[in-house]
Amino acid sequence: LANKKFHPEPTKVKVGNVEIGGDTTVIISGPCAVESRTQLLVTAHAIKKAGAHILRGGAYKPRTSPYAFQGLEEEGLKYMKEAKEETGLPVVCEVTSQNAIEAAVKYVDMLQIGARNMQNFYLLKEAGKTGLPVLLKRGLSATIEEWLNAAEYIIAEGNPNVVLCERGIRTFETSTRNTLDISAVPVIKSKSHLPIIVDPSHASGVRAYVKSLSMAAVAVGADGLMIETHPDPSTALSDGPQSLSFDQFEDLTKELKPLIQLM
Ligand code: PEP
Ligand code: MN
Repeated sequence: LANKKFHPEPTKVKVGNVEIGGDTTVIISGPCAVESRTQLLVTAHAIKKAGAHILRGGAYKPRTSPYAFQGLEEEGLKYMKEAKEETGLPVVCEVTSQNAIEAAVKYVDMLQIGARNMQNFYLLKEAGKTGLPVLLKRGLSATIEEWLNAAEYIIAEGNPNVVLCERGIRTFETSTRNTLDISAVPVIKSKSHLPIIVDPSHASGVRAYVKSLSMAAVAVGADGLMIETHPDPSTALSDGPQSLSFDQFEDLTKELKPLIQLM
């Protein structure tokens, strides 16, 4: 079902009023985690002003340490919905369990399956059953074949609205948090009809590399970008070092604009 051989036309996925896989490069942005109502609303307005199309924000955070901030859960989802109503931006939120899915369907336009859950087949099926568009991140050490099989689980539930997200993979290199597999974009385009976006924030883990990797992603034909932003990255409860300030994000979208028009 994810294979291009049996479905040559590129799939376009509608998220609210935004189309991923269509003519424009879709920019998704927002904080790693929803930390407070104010933090989220301020961010939503800032990214909208800078030209982003979809708001992201984690309410259920799959953290490496059990002692790290785990997210506001349903309270965070409520703020996401409020941010959507205030700005008109559709919203995407990661779900990490069946409970999270049941709560999220009441508030969000798109579900995100994170890298750590890419092969949680039960979760993939449950996300598929909702019928909502699903943003499927590539697993930390997943091959492209494994990733497409994960997408297959969602589509097999009768839900064709899958968007893939390359977010860097584990390699021997330690200068960046992960290694952005830029070739995943043309490889996916040759094997599948599904749209693919790139997340340079989690791929690099370093704010200073986000702009150049975003440009590379657009140049190689990605259908969109996911970029973490925060009102004050130095105080962020998660992923501060890779998050852009609003000024940095605005500068990025300005520089991307001519490139997007060229592509
Ligand atoms: C995230 O998007 O905040 C996230 C946890 O990403 P990943 O699953 O790619 O690590
Ligand atoms: Mn993050």
